[in-house]
Amino acid sequence: MASAPTSTHCPYCSLQCGISVVAGDRPATLQPQPDFPTNLGGLCSKGWNAAGLLDHPQRLLSPLVRTVPGDRTSPFRAAGWDEALDLVAAELVRLQAAHGRDAVGCFGGGGLTNEKAYTFGKFARVALGTAMIDYNGRFCMSSAATASNRAFGLDRGLPFPLADVARAQAVLLVGSNPAATMPPAMQFFDAGRAAGATHVVVDPRATATARGASLHLAPLPGTDLALANGLLHLAVKDGLVDEEYVATRTTGFAAVRAGVSASWPDRVERITGVPVADLRRTVHALAEAPTAMVLTARGAEQHSSGTDTAQAWINLALALGLPGRPFSGYGTITGQGNGQGGREHGQKADQLPGYRKLADPADRAHVAAVWGVDPDELPQPGLSAFEMLDRLGTPGGVRALLVLASNLVVSAPDVNRVRDRLAALDLLVVSDIFLSETAELADVVFPTAQWAEEEGTMTNLEGRVIRRRQALRPPVGVHDDLHLMKELAERLGRGQHFSTEPREVFDELRRASAGGLADYSGISYERVDAEQGVFWPCPATPDGQPDHPGSPRLFADRFPTPDGRARFVRVEYRAPDESPDAAFPHVLTTGRLMAHYQSGTQTRRHPATAQSAVGPEVQLHPDLARTLGIGTADVVRLTTRRGAATFRASLSTDIRPDVVFVPFHWGGASAANALTNPALDPLSRMPAFKACAVRAERVGSP
Ligand code: SF4
Repeated sequence: MASAPTSTHCPYCSLQCGISVVAGDRPATLQPQPDFPTNLGGLCSKGWNAAGLLDHPQRLLSPLVRTVPGDRTSPFRAAGWDEALDLVAAELVRLQAAHGRDAVGCFGGGGLTNEKAYTFGKFARVALGTAMIDYNGRFCMSSAATASNRAFGLDRGLPFPLADVARAQAVLLVGSNPAATMPPAMQFFDAGRAAGATHVVVDPRATATARGASLHLAPLPGTDLALANGLLHLAVKDGLVDEEYVATRTTGFAAVRAGVSASWPDRVERITGVPVADLRRTVHALAEAPTAMVLTARGAEQHSSGTDTAQAWINLALALGLPGRPFSGYGTITGQGNGQGGREHGQKADQLPGYRKLADPADRAHVAAVWGVDPDELPQPGLSAFEMLDRLGTPGGVRALLVLASNLVVSAPDVNRVRDRLAALDLLVVSDIFLSETAELADVVFPTAQWAEEEGTMTNLEGRVIRRRQALRPPVGVHDDLHLMKELAERLGRGQHFSTEPREVFDELRRASAGGLADYSGISYERVDAEQGVFWPCPATPDGQPDHPGSPRLFADRFPTPDGRARFVRVEYRAPDESPDAAFPHVLTTGRLMAHYQSGTQTRRHPATAQSAVGPEVQLHPDLARTLGIGTADVVRLTTRRGAATFRASLSTDIRPDVVFVPFHWGGASAANALTNPALDPLSRMPAFKACAVRAERVGSP
């Protein structure tokens, strides 16, 4: 029997396309919403096929435990929820009694709803009392977040609605390929181009996005900081700096100006491979357009110098007077579905809800009061994601890990090392929809509800808080992660602090975030329903009324810094942690394909998306392939200092001859992250996913 459509959002990327689900008859069907502001009726192949996840034959429908407890080589068997929860709780208590509270760690994800991300942070600090919690967003856009906080005093991916892109008369897009990763977003870029805007794309590959741009700059991976400083040098040299804006709205430019005077264009051209003429054309286009944007994404940010690189792009935007100007500014394009909200409410090692700081006494006191606990109970900041993973099972390290919404052995850097560390744990607990590669290694697996089966909120790439609505109930035997955390907390003696009702959790989140930078206190489910989402910060009035209009555009008059000004920070180019040498003579970079999302746990299982997509291929330039004796579809082994993986060869002139590219959606023999370098950015703790030294060799024929 058909039922009324339920308005909700795609389960995948940060565009959070509006979707209507009809679930009265199974299987559920879906349609894009024609009027949701980020997709306007568009969907990509991932979204179109998302309903196929709901009744997928490989879905987990009961908890799994090992046939022989403690022996992960023994097969799984189905268990009841009480049996699995009792087992996990007893082990957590035993390990914390023996090794201390920080012997238990939590690893979250940027796909969790705000309610679940908030509860996971609280669960770690209140139910477990551990400092050890971080999440996979650390591997995503933490560098841009750190740089934005440093420059603007605030991190919101886009400080303006996505539709503003169509009104910008010049756009510099760095390390992003929305034509493949979020195709409906291209309508805003296309509208701008159709209206005469100049678009410049920075990418070592001539992607679909780059091919549609006015100009494509193809630097060597890991050299973006030199490129940005070179552009700023030319802005200074050619008199393009907005001196009035710099004088009235910023601090610190003198030191930056002195720093980039050393970035002579010929040196930048030598480092990056980008001709000076193209640099000059780019900076003049940005400076001379009445409205202009600088947008970055993972290609610019996933480096061991990621924070400084993002800062260099921000410096350029500030020098040109862009942030806060109408239809202009700097923004970063978030990747994961709730990559924005997931980093605002306490999953990060150093954060409390509302972007409050765990190390700040006033912030601790505020949140502890909302949580009904003593501030002294709350742990201090713990380790960042890779640092925690790298110490699993070591003396003094984490001995039990709870993983929500992450497939670490595909998505973490240097996955062979991470796999070894996971194997050294006393207890690994994973909650997922499917038996992911990480769940396969666990002692206990909990089946969880998915997108169209749950209520909650997400915060998209624009900082717009939106509703995820339930169109159908989870299958019998499946519960959501709020239920999992509440039941575990009960068994740990702290159940009274937790709720399984998303609306109750959101109301508590609102109070916890009140007065913080990411203030949700004026947002309610009703407002989100009525207004197609509400942009934060949105504080309640002093008498608690939610009538603030929300904040679609930020920084028009001041920045949320102590003096109201944005901060330039002088940053210098440094070579990537690894450069090519005789043993590893090429540069490896990694990225995404249109058909797959993140570690591919969901999209690799969907027949329609899996069949429409190419498999794990390495993209090489024909000139490089010729010197290596590699032909189309040959089996190619890539080797780095961490490990090796094999891929089918795809030859294309769309890539630089000194670079090879692999997608990271697969594990096992074609795991791109068996190759990647876990060298960390000193500030954001972002690994160097986007550039390392590699050797390529033919090991088989088609
Ligand atoms: Fe939209 Fe992203 Fe979903 Fe594609 S994956 S339909 S772009 S939200």
